[in-house]
Amino acid sequence: MRRSVRHLADGREIIYFDDTPGTPERVARDRRKLPRQQPHAEIRRDPLTGEWVAMAAHRQTRTYRPPADLCPLCPSVPGRPTEIPESSYDVVAFENRFPSFARSVPDTPSFVEGLPMVPREPGRGRCEVVCFTADHDSSFGELPVSRVRTVMDVWADRTAALSAMPGVAQVFPFENRGEEICVTLNHPHGQIYGYPFVTPRTERMLATARDYQAEHGRPVMADLLAAERAVGRRVLASGDHWTAFVPAAARWPVEVHMVPHRQVPDLPALTGDERDGFAELYPRVLHMLDALYDRPLPYIAAWHQAPVVADRDMAWLHLEVFSVLRTADKLKYLAGSESGMAVWINDVTPEQIADRLRANDPVLVH
Ligand SMILES: [Zn+2]
Repeated sequence: MRRSVRHLADGREIIYFDDTPGTPERVARDRRKLPRQQPHAEIRRDPLTGEWVAMAAHRQTRTYRPPADLCPLCPSVPGRPTEIPESSYDVVAFENRFPSFARSVPDTPSFVEGLPMVPREPGRGRCEVVCFTADHDSSFGELPVSRVRTVMDVWADRTAALSAMPGVAQVFPFENRGEEICVTLNHPHGQIYGYPFVTPRTERMLATARDYQAEHGRPVMADLLAAERAVGRRVLASGDHWTAFVPAAARWPVEVHMVPHRQVPDLPALTGDERDGFAELYPRVLHMLDALYDRPLPYIAAWHQAPVVADRDMAWLHLEVFSVLRTADKLKYLAGSESGMAVWINDVTPEQIADRLRANDPVLVH
């Protein structure tokens, strides 16, 4: 894979990752007249929960679902420049033009006016967009294994790069797919957030892992993975290095976790063999998801990684993929219990969903 770092007209970084042999040098210049963005991102801590909330009011003006011929993630063609100056690419990552977190945000007062108990800080972090393919009409699940493998390397590269940036406390690669999740662009792409704090969900999981380790002397994920594999009831697919299963306490109507067999803190720590194993297994899982309702499934795929500094020995890298779709055309809304109290009510059992997903395993169905 060849890695080329360039800059867009407004100074944002763009990195090409080419896996096609013989690809010409990436020399195209961004000739757009783009004003330099000055994102006014800030974070404020809720004194009641202790959780940080990000404010990014400048995002209101961002591009909203433009027609396909104006897709900003397609390669540029003469007379129609996009975010990617080149006329083709394999995988590309670049800084988000409307970031929730950025490195160049101005200082803020240290607390909300008149409320010293509500700290304010600049939202200093990093938000990147990753395009998985130049093909607008493709999807992650349709990528060849070799391309999924490249994307693994890109996620690892970006995790290492963002982890090294001052102030970044946790790196979160994710994909939002489908209009039901308010995806504003249909082009196959994901995002990477470098948060200036450790996220509440990660804090909670690390605390649980620490308690379990103290009581049992083993990582909770090691025991859970071994038990799920032994029972097999909810396992969808497994290889030498990864197992995909519906978690026994699934919160979403469709939810699959992909867990590496070895405890690693983050994507850069995966070996080449482990990355190969993921690239073979993940498209199979995505196929099962799309076959479930016989339509492209809207989903969120979320990488759980260790914080950059703290508690790295407690973390266990894994991917959580879940959908808000509970039937082919009915959405699960996060209503009173979920939104108000963070208590999930699931209408289907994880065992039922595992059975339905397994019925569409491309390896077993003939
Ligand atoms: Zn496109």
